Parts: sequence; structure tokens; C-alpha cells
Amino acid sequence: IAALALTGCGRSESSSSSSASGGTGGFPAGSTIGVALPQKTSENWVLAEGLFNDGLKAAGFNPDVQFANGGVSEQQNQISAMVTKGAKVIIVGAIDGSQLGTQVQQAKAAGATVIAYDRLLKNTDAVDYYVAYDNYKVGQLQGQALLDGMKAKKPNGPYNVELFAGSPDDANAKVFWDGAMNILQPKIDDGTLKVLSGQKSFDQAVTQGWKAENAQKRMDTILAASYNSAPLDGVLSPNDTLARAIITSVKSAGKPVPVVTGQDSEVESVKSIMAGEQYSTINKDTRNLVAKAIDMVKKLQAGQKPDINDDKSYNNGVKTVPAFLLPPQIVTKANAKEAYANDPTLSKLTQ
Ligand code: BGC
Repeated sequence: IAALALTGCGRSESSSSSSASGGTGGFPAGSTIGVALPQKTSENWVLAEGLFNDGLKAAGFNPDVQFANGGVSEQQNQISAMVTKGAKVIIVGAIDGSQLGTQVQQAKAAGATVIAYDRLLKNTDAVDYYVAYDNYKVGQLQGQALLDGMKAKKPNGPYNVELFAGSPDDANAKVFWDGAMNILQPKIDDGTLKVLSGQKSFDQAVTQGWKAENAQKRMDTILAASYNSAPLDGVLSPNDTLARAIITSVKSAGKPVPVVTGQDSEVESVKSIMAGEQYSTINKDTRNLVAKAIDMVKKLQAGQKPDINDDKSYNNGVKTVPAFLLPPQIVTKANAKEAYANDPTLSKLTQ
């Protein structure tokens, strides 16, 4: 270790071969750690802000946590500013994972380590690590929940369903979709599921900006065009914010609430699940994800390599990014109480 520390004291240049080796130099206590968060498109991001500020301070770092509510160019400027301030690690929850190549390259050139948080950074070798819940698994759990929920209401199909995806600039959206379609596509192919709108591709299903109003409008249009007389049994929704928008649309069309999936365990959706409206969500405790990211920072500070548990799943177009993936959990009314037992906010809703 001492020998490593001696040879590692110069700034490591970011040739593509060394860019993956962030974590052998170490850096002083009190160093600035940048955290670039996207827009507040769901509660998990808002929670992350406070958790990063508190957790990084408690670990002796100087946190610089920024939201980019203005969009991609604001996030680009924030990351550049973090590099200028000398941040040793930059943690990035990207709005658009393929638009930050220049900025993360700058970060690498300045000797910082780049960690993609929750969302992968695409088409760049200037990303050292990825920490996230297993996004593909999230999609599979959503697909399975949709089938289970519909079967519980009506044992035999066919079932009429509609499909929603997240924002196409977010690298996660396609992964959630692929996971869900891994479960649902065979059921579409064998006729168990019918998509009366005919909109079965990712491109047709996307929700720009993860915006509730966009999902609500699309649902309104589909209901008016295809469900005047036909029942709607289920809707694949990639997260809770969109799930509630879909439920609002269905209700205002005067239809019974179908089985609707979700993700994030947002307060309003957990209430809706307990009230028997939204069918499912996903528990991806933000406290654990932020803790894991901060754990990576601590390892890097000590000149050690962060733990990874997956070095094959997340190819970003240029490299396979070493990842630490946490396990997501499906939550319905049936297991909400135990799932949120140690969450001070959500446990109050499941009594
Ligand atoms: C996150 C989801 C979230 C969505 C919208 C995704 O990248 O993984 O948890 O619902 O962004 O904010």
C-alpha cells in the first residue's frame, strides 16, 4: 500500500486504460465531493439531496450537491464548475446520460473519479463506477406485478393493457422497459395480452421528461380512441408519478381503475396502494443507494477500490462500467407493511 501511495501521488492522466482505475491515489479528508442531480421528477431525487448533504458531511467531506432543474446545459455547467472547484469525486445522476461526455472527460483529466448514480452515463469511457438498483430487475418485477394483479381480479385472460415507458433521454427508461417486456412480450405474442391502441414499441410508449402531464394526455387520447366500450384491465407504468397521472386520466374518463404498476414508493402512491387503487410500486430505498455511493467515496478517499458486484451488465456503448447493483423489491398492499417497516415515513401509512 505504501509503495502504491508513493507511485500514485502524481495525478493520473486519463488515458482510456487508466480511466477505469479511479481509486488508487486517495485524497484528503475535507475534500469537495460533487453531486450532480437531475430534475426533481420523482421523490427519490429530492430525498437524495438531503441524504448526500448530511451523509457526506458526516463522513468528513465538503459536499457540493446541485439540482439541474433548468435542463441539460445547466447540468453540464454544474459539472464543469465542480471540476473547477477541485472536486475529487463527481457523482452524477444524469438528466441525459449521453450529453455529459465533455464534462466527465474534464473531470477525469483533472484527476477526479466519476460515479454514475442511479442512471448510467452513456457513450463515454470517462465513467469509473455505477451504483444503482438493478434496473432490469425493476422492469421484470413491474411486468410480473401487472400480470399477477390482473389475474387476481379476473383469473382468465385475455386482458387489455396499455404500456408506458419513461423519458428516452434517461438511460434507465429503456432498461426498465426491456425488463418489463421480457415478461410481457411472450404474453402479447400468445394473445393473453391485447394492446388495443396498437402502441407496443418503446418509442411509442415513452413519456418525455418523465412528466405526469405527458402520461395523462397520452392516456386520455388512448382511452378516447380505443376504450369507449372495451374494458382496460391493466397499465404498465414505469414509476409512481406516472401511475397516478394514468389513474387520474382513467377516473376522469369514468372508467374503473385498472391494475397499474409503479416505482419509487412515493408517499402519494403508497397511500393509493393502501386505499386499493394503484396496484404496485417498487421499494428502492434511497437511503441505501446514497449510503452505497458515499461508501464508494470513502473507499476512494482511502486509496482503495470501491466494492462492485457486477462487471458485465452495464455496457454504456464504449465500456462496461463496473457496477454495484442493489436489489429492488416489489410492493403491493399485501406486503407493504413489512416492506416499509424500517422507513419512518412510509411505515406510518401502512398501519
Ligand atoms: C429513476 C426512477 C425515477 C425516474 C424519474 C429514474 O432514472 O431510476 O426511480 O422514477 O428516474 O425520476
